[in-house]
Amino acid sequence: MPELPDVTVYVERLRAHVGGRVLRRVRMRSAFLLRSVDPPLSAVDGRVVRSVERIGKRLVLGFGDAEDGAAAHDAPAPDDASDADLFLVLHLMIAGRLRWKAPGAAVPGKVGLAAFDFDDGTLVLTEASPKKRASLHVVRGRQALAAFDRGGLEPLDASPAAFAAALRRENHTFKRALTDPRVLSGVGNAYSDEILHRARLSPFKRTADATDDDLERLRVATVEVLVEWTDALRAEVGRGFPDKVTAFRPGMAVHGKYGEPCPVCGAPVQRILYAENEANYCAGCQTGGKLLADRVLSRLMKDDWPRTLEELEDRKRG
Ligand SMILES: [Zn+2]
Repeated sequence: MPELPDVTVYVERLRAHVGGRVLRRVRMRSAFLLRSVDPPLSAVDGRVVRSVERIGKRLVLGFGDAEDGAAAHDAPAPDDASDADLFLVLHLMIAGRLRWKAPGAAVPGKVGLAAFDFDDGTLVLTEASPKKRASLHVVRGRQALAAFDRGGLEPLDASPAAFAAALRRENHTFKRALTDPRVLSGVGNAYSDEILHRARLSPFKRTADATDDDLERLRVATVEVLVEWTDALRAEVGRGFPDKVTAFRPGMAVHGKYGEPCPVCGAPVQRILYAENEANYCAGCQTGGKLLADRVLSRLMKDDWPRTLEELEDRKRG
């Protein structure tokens, strides 16, 4: 699932590619993608993209009126949404991806969900999974956008005190707390593995047992990992469009590295399998060499781990 670093780079490159441009029309290929009814999707046809933002792991395109569309064609990409009044809210979930193609590009058969046609190119949305989970909402007014904010802290802006308070609000494992969108915004399975490894903290440790030092290490590691990866992805994409978005990067320390040597201590990276996901950690760096027995793990996972990250994402407050 694209997390904060990937979504941030999507936002930046979308601003460059479609900011100030007119969305001519949307070609839908999946009956399941659009999850809202009113306003209709056609309401954004012919409107100018006024803003591109991130809410959690969602991408938000804001649209203003159409009349100055042609003049806006060469305008610099906008970065504030003050005059946007219609929004497309896109959640890519695990397998959704955006690609920038030539104008009028075909929507690929099995994986194609939709195409967003601009004069300079077409944004093609795909989902390479039999389970179609990506979602699109059309929203009118900035107030209505607030419904998509799960309330998690923005990790790059959070003060030490706010970060510690958010993590301590409920007693959960660090792994779950980091990936809960009500606690932190934009962090999922991949970067939580990397953050916990950087902080040398066990994914199984509970927030109720965390010291102030644990939580400050976790905050610093969160900022470091997210900033480093955002910078790396930004450099990789350059002036292009992110077309290699993946949760598994060769440069990651533990995520997706089961059995490979930890880059810090050389111990083999361990894994936790749950439902459709694998989480990774280094016992040498993070759990004092302790490996959790299957029995303990399954109890822990039943008790405190999301069966799927999607379920966690969708979990309603309260
Ligand atoms: Zn290690």
